[in-house]
Amino acid sequence: MEPPVVGRLAPSPTGRLHLGHARSFLLAWWSARSRGGSVVLRIDDLDGTRVKPGAVALVLKDLEWLGLDWDGEPLMQTARTAAHAEALDLLVARGLAYACVCTRKEIEEAASAPHAGGDETVYPGTCRGRFSSRAAAREATGRQAALRLRVEPGDVRFEDALRGPQAFDVARTAGDFVVARKDGVAAYQLATPIDDAYQGVTEVVRGDDLLPSAARQQLVGDALGLTVPLQAHVSLVHAADGHRLAKRAGSLSLEELRSAGVSPERVARWVAESAGLSGTERPRPAKDWLEGFTMERVPRLPVVLPADPVSRL
Ligand code: GLU
Repeated sequence: MEPPVVGRLAPSPTGRLHLGHARSFLLAWWSARSRGGSVVLRIDDLDGTRVKPGAVALVLKDLEWLGLDWDGEPLMQTARTAAHAEALDLLVARGLAYACVCTRKEIEEAASAPHAGGDETVYPGTCRGRFSSRAAAREATGRQAALRLRVEPGDVRFEDALRGPQAFDVARTAGDFVVARKDGVAAYQLATPIDDAYQGVTEVVRGDDLLPSAARQQLVGDALGLTVPLQAHVSLVHAADGHRLAKRAGSLSLEELRSAGVSPERVARWVAESAGLSGTERPRPAKDWLEGFTMERVPRLPVVLPADPVSRL
């Protein structure tokens, strides 16, 4: 028998949700629930500079409005600080992560041009082997230190349920990447696989902007001996002008759509249609689309929103 499916919703409380989030979250929920699986909710609230006061309650409201539910209490990532710190200590003790005092400017100056085709500066490894710990780095330089994971050259391979076999040479595209920020807070790439494993998540469905992150999270998971969930990266939603929807595109937030009279059933219908489901002639609530949902049928093409979503959805 197949092991039970555990899907997850992992919003960041950085603003109101938009249609791109609605699509990723509906697909994640349909994928798990259509196979009788459970769904856990995690609030990715580690990035204190981006978290907006009151946003958690509004994100939960948006998810509920969409007709989504979850099992158990939401997990706040900030409640997992001790587990993140323990994992970081382990990585340093095993020689798999090291303290780094470089500033962004120093990295840019030391690195050769950013990797062709990427906009990320590749970390040149300046602090590799320099310090035994963050404390030692601070002592020696008077600077706060981040922690970076040692990345060996070669492809990180994994299978994406939607996009097939993937290979990312993280050493070439990013180099040793940050797993703890200079203030000691766990980086997204570290916290995600740790908390997915803690919540028993078996599959991650999220936007394909995070596909390169999946390779990094695989490396973190391997270094910590964690089982990394199956991955399915779904297309992002683009506005009619070709721009990717961002949270700042306020006019497309679910809240604005709701105020303009768009029902959650209409949003679900639009997402269902974009996911290759049949019977999309009329709006229906999220739970009415479970039957017939399969990830295999979800198109890999970018999804473009009509120019006037309020009247066209
Ligand atoms: N919290 C992240 C976001 O809202 C997603 C994290 C993930 O799915 O791994 O972009």
